[in-house]
Amino acid sequence: MPSAMVFLFDTCTSKCAYCGHATSGKVLDNTQLTPYKDRGLIDKFLSFFEKRTTQENRWLLMLLGGEPLLMPNLGYMIDRLHAVGNKASLYTSLNIGANNAAYKYLLKCDPDAVDYIMASFHPEADEFEDSFFQMMEALKTRGHKVIFRFIAHPLRLHRMEALHERCKALDICFSPYAYCSSNYPLAYTKDDKNLIAKHTTNYSQVVQMENGLAVENLKCEAGEKLLYVNARDGKIFPCPNVFNRAIGNIYDDHLEPKKEGQGCYDPATRCFCDINFQQNHVEDLDDSTHFEDEKRGYVEPKDHEALHQDMEKRGFAFHNKVHHGSLGENSSDERLILSKQEVRETFEKNKAFYHGDFKKGFHKEFLKS
Ligand code: SF4
Repeated sequence: MPSAMVFLFDTCTSKCAYCGHATSGKVLDNTQLTPYKDRGLIDKFLSFFEKRTTQENRWLLMLLGGEPLLMPNLGYMIDRLHAVGNKASLYTSLNIGANNAAYKYLLKCDPDAVDYIMASFHPEADEFEDSFFQMMEALKTRGHKVIFRFIAHPLRLHRMEALHERCKALDICFSPYAYCSSNYPLAYTKDDKNLIAKHTTNYSQVVQMENGLAVENLKCEAGEKLLYVNARDGKIFPCPNVFNRAIGNIYDDHLEPKKEGQGCYDPATRCFCDINFQQNHVEDLDDSTHFEDEKRGYVEPKDHEALHQDMEKRGFAFHNKVHHGSLGENSSDERLILSKQEVRETFEKNKAFYHGDFKKGFHKEFLKS
């Protein structure tokens, strides 16, 4: 199934719903949501995928935030995707409350329209843990496939056992991923690694714990069946680990054909994103069977070392070097949560940002909405 990760907007929360990093709070202005009130923009955005949808080619759009449940017309977008046989998946921190319109939509919609909901338990969620689990349970009861995502920040490892048990009681997969910053995952101690490895359920977690795959000999479907899209400027990048060159634009209905024999689009990057493997986009590293199991419910942990050795035996090498320039650049390893005061101050400092030069980079279709 071809898949596209879609970046929608920055949000006012302090963490990214996909990877759980403390963000810079660069743009904390909810006027960013205004363009999505225009269904014409959503239609234009989706028409790129609709033109490329066939019986054999159904798209999965993975909606990232910030927080996708804050997006106006999220239900409209998902219904429209589903009407032509495509699906959405959502990466949410559930830090939106049970009265949120998109959450209520999810409790009513056809669960077949949503491939999975990745519920990412961020440090803030300690404050509303019971409600987080109740919301996950309600989504699962509605028929959604929910996975509990836990970013294994070194200061949070003590929470793993209890959260794992709560997930098991609800028949939801507890799925921990390595914390990623300029220092991590390379800075994990052996004890930290062992603790996290006890909860391994798939290859992607092993890849991330080892700082990603070296890309020299990889073949993949990036740029064709795997895309990363920025909804604001419309730019299409080959995958979530390559941003050195846009290969098309959603609003211009343009995608460069992939060159014969094209390997990794960026020899300096690492193949890191779990989606690359969970959606079976990297040749010979198909993690989709594990991922399908995780979508169905609780999964008993696997032998981390055996998965690691299996990958090495098959010739995969790990990146093993400090990597700058993608995930985690804004993180402070010592900080889990930004205080309300800090968020307020950042907002005051940056409130003109979204309306200044930053906006000039947006696509004219997005700007006119
Ligand atoms: S980083 Fe992206 S382009 Fe490179 S091998 Fe992985 S999926 Fe393909």
